[in-house]
Amino acid sequence: MTSNLQESGLRPTAFPAGGFPDGGYKMILRDIRQEYQVRAKDGEGKEAFLAIESFNLDVRPGEFVSIVGPSGCGKSTLLDILAGLARATSGSYLIDGKEVTGPALDRGIVMQGYALFPWRTVRKNVEFGLEMKGVASAERGEISRRFIDLVNLQGFEDRYPHELSGGMKQRVAIARALAYDPEILLMDEPFAAVDAQTRETLQDELMRIWDQTKKTIIFVTHSIDEAILLADRVVVMSTNPGRVKSVVRIVLPRPRTNQDMRASSDFAAVRQTVWETLQEDGGEAPPAPEGEEPFGPLRHRPPFAGQLAVADSRLAAGS
Ligand code: ADP
Repeated sequence: MTSNLQESGLRPTAFPAGGFPDGGYKMILRDIRQEYQVRAKDGEGKEAFLAIESFNLDVRPGEFVSIVGPSGCGKSTLLDILAGLARATSGSYLIDGKEVTGPALDRGIVMQGYALFPWRTVRKNVEFGLEMKGVASAERGEISRRFIDLVNLQGFEDRYPHELSGGMKQRVAIARALAYDPEILLMDEPFAAVDAQTRETLQDELMRIWDQTKKTIIFVTHSIDEAILLADRVVVMSTNPGRVKSVVRIVLPRPRTNQDMRASSDFAAVRQTVWETLQEDGGEAPPAPEGEEPFGPLRHRPPFAGQLAVADSRLAAGS
């Protein structure tokens, strides 16, 4: 896959002359609050349920931000807002200084469960965003070929989703999101449904693609290891209502690979920090995926070893 990157035509994030508006942030979320109308507890009428409250986050262009938190803390709700599929009840959400009012092609979305169009072939799935953009057929064919190469699916162009493995479907979803060259990628548990080995391959591939393209990526995951491996910052959410509990800056050296990180005591120390942050104040931590040892020997090591992670809610503002 690496050999194809240069030919893929993926472009790094463009840095406009004069800098980005609003202090250089690509995305700004201010006091986001999301309420849902639910059936009242007494069974009569409706009442408001507060899913997200006072959510603040500034994201720099080209930054990789992971979001972790217990089930029900509002991760999917937040992703829907970021994608423009839902409007927050209140608060403001800006991209490049402009209020977001709906979905747009500046954001590519890779959700869990693949969400490919079952009636479209691999090629036609990858071309979908390009069709929406009005790209001519010949150019679409050229672009989709490059991205199918990038995710190593040459030879599978004419297959339908049901003829592909889970890992292959996920590659199609990534190729589809990248093909129309969005500046932001929103990823909701994109690797949750594939086996552990494929997941590691996809993580390593995503890091390589991100390294080359410097897309701004928001990545929701249940896996602490995955969040740390990939991100510049990990946003830890708390539940009832969902809000930013802490933001952990990950200053592990890059490039990172699964293999290197597995053997790294620094990585283990950062993981410990994130776990402790999740569990502070009696917060419920997400279940440990296979292979993670939240309560292993590291519990007895001093937290913040090596100063590799900084847990500080001020970092939510990207400072
Ligand atoms: P997560 O993705 O972190 O598991 P969600 O964003 O799915 O969390 O949900 C956050 C909270 O909002 C949960 O308590 C959930 O039950 C509630 N919720 C989500 N969607 C709706 C909806 N459409 N109507 C009512 N409540 C909802």
